[in-house]
Amino acid sequence: MNSPHPTVVLVYQRTSLPWVFDSAQRAGIRLVLVPRPDETVEPGRLPAAVADVLPLDVEGDPAGALAALQQYHRAHPFDGITTLYDPAVPFVAEAARALGLPGIPPSTAAGVQDKRLMRERLAAAGLNVPRFLKLDDGAPADAAGLDFPVVVKPAHGYSSLGVTRAEDPGRLAAVVAEVREVCRGVLGAEPALVVEEYLDGPEYAVESLAHRGEVTVLSIGYKGEPKGPYFEETVYRAPADLPAAVQEAVVREVTAAHRALGVTDGPTHTELRLRGGTEPYLLEMGARVGGSGVSHYIASHVTGVDLAADALRVAAGLPPASAGAPVTAIGAAANYIVPCGGHGRITAIHGLDAVRADPRVDHVVQMLHPGDVVRPYPDFTGYPAFVLSRHASTAEAEEFHRHLESAIRIDYAPEEGTR
Ligand code: ADP
Ligand code: CA
Ligand code: CA
Ligand code: CA
Repeated sequence: MNSPHPTVVLVYQRTSLPWVFDSAQRAGIRLVLVPRPDETVEPGRLPAAVADVLPLDVEGDPAGALAALQQYHRAHPFDGITTLYDPAVPFVAEAARALGLPGIPPSTAAGVQDKRLMRERLAAAGLNVPRFLKLDDGAPADAAGLDFPVVVKPAHGYSSLGVTRAEDPGRLAAVVAEVREVCRGVLGAEPALVVEEYLDGPEYAVESLAHRGEVTVLSIGYKGEPKGPYFEETVYRAPADLPAAVQEAVVREVTAAHRALGVTDGPTHTELRLRGGTEPYLLEMGARVGGSGVSHYIASHVTGVDLAADALRVAAGLPPASAGAPVTAIGAAANYIVPCGGHGRITAIHGLDAVRADPRVDHVVQMLHPGDVVRPYPDFTGYPAFVLSRHASTAEAEEFHRHLESAIRIDYAPEEGTR
């Protein structure tokens, strides 16, 4: 039974990113925050929607975290559990099952997280999948039957960590060794890899919401056309300017992918490429609101649907407020990911104050500051900043992004160990 103020446990969300907390507040949903281990939350400075804080070591000790969560649930029953943090999606699915709460089954969570399972399940359903093969730990580098270039990636990766293009067979062994190193190092994961054909074409992100198997595609946004060898995030502009027939093909493919992967409930963030400019091929689907909430910012300003609030409602077993309403674009929204543009110790970041003051800009989320050290790829350090903005049209967003390319500049001093 749900009280008038449902309570949802929110796992590993940074309080510096406001969207999901603001949505919860508007929707009258109480949050129990499981803070990120590297974030100190000060009780007096928590977002208003946070009713309680429950520290759990979800990644280091999942069994202990689940036991503590069960104990908490007995003392303070809650209605649901969710996360926007991709590596925590399997834990959330396990916890939901253990506590009898709404959510996707653990096997589905495993299938969206493990790129081998994902590719197999999509292929079995007859969806577009590049030719691929699995490379277990220690297996010799191999791309038999694949056309080059190929992309080598961790089976359990995220944030593009380690994802690397190999141009020709002669480069494959070195690339495989390098990606395994990223698995063992920054990802702390088993070095199981996927090798798949490079999908040539522009990239798109699709924000959707599923409820009881009914999938609503909210927005399709343009993500640039990164060519590698490493795939840094660059831009996100929605709604994408695509012919109606291509949009329909994207909606069909993404809807069918939910079915193939078993994602019946909750928000999803799907990344795909249009091979040859028209044929949608999934890169992956995340069973969560994407980009730590950036997907909510984009989808809500493009459609007027409060995606994060609906995601919390579905997590609590309630129907989304947007159910049944037609989805139409009412505006454009964008995210510009400030490129590192070099490496070393940051001495200055120019232009951000003027960008913050720009009326089109709602948020500048700054992750790196003067004094921080940026390592060259593939040693990922994170992005300097995101610029989230609203525009009358996607063309205006594109023009604004061209302006940002020259308006923001980062200075570096050489640093020992960054080559
Ligand atoms: P992650 O889970 O680390 O984000 P992805 O599979 O989404 O891994 O890959 C990250 C990025 O690498 C994608 O957004 C895309 O730009 C690029 N990429 C991955 N696989 C391919 C591919 N087969 N063809 C072309 N680009 C790819
Ligand atoms: Ca991912
Ligand atoms: Ca991705
Ligand atoms: Ca990406």
